[in-house]
Amino acid sequence: MNRYAPRVAAVSRSLAPRDPAVALTFDDGPDVTFTPAVLDILSARGIRATFFVVGKRAEENPDIVRRIVAEGHALGSHTASHPDLWELSLPAAIAEFRRGRRMLEAITGQPVRLFRPPKGWMNLEQAAGLRAFGFRTWLWNVDPEDWAPGATSESVLQGVGQLQSGDVVLLHDAIELPIDPSTANRGATVAALPAIIDQVQAQGFELVTLS
Ligand SMILES: [Zn+2]
Repeated sequence: MNRYAPRVAAVSRSLAPRDPAVALTFDDGPDVTFTPAVLDILSARGIRATFFVVGKRAEENPDIVRRIVAEGHALGSHTASHPDLWELSLPAAIAEFRRGRRMLEAITGQPVRLFRPPKGWMNLEQAAGLRAFGFRTWLWNVDPEDWAPGATSESVLQGVGQLQSGDVVLLHDAIELPIDPSTANRGATVAALPAIIDQVQAQGFELVTLS
């Protein structure tokens, strides 16, 4: 990422450390199997999270997107098709940003302001475009690498570690265009989730959505 891009887009990586809170975020969904599994766990525990969804996957699974919103989670755009933004011209990148948002708004009927760029990358011009379109761009500051081939529930839990107030945790309820097909199985993330919640609550942190 261009070193000035985060400032131009007003990128956030962590919460204001005002309140003892952390945020769990899920990228690349919805997935027909694993997103409902994540939602079931969150619902059973009364936890809210933030989902950065891919527009084309949202169009394939609109009911899951509506469920995300109905259960009180925050919904953000993760572009329309999850491209590598460094390969796109500015007009093509802008089209991705706008189309991705439109796809979600068509499903939920609600405005979408949150955005996360695929792989956390964007350049200066794209950052300016995001800001001009009123997006709030979120990265993360804790990555347990649940996207990596061979990740297990233990490695995910260990990667999350002892969280600090304000942490934003990157998780995946799907993997768009996986480098290794095995990572399409999100079982390790789903299996780690209850223990992650236990640990966060034991530390006295509230789990909040991004805004
Ligand atoms: Zn992604």
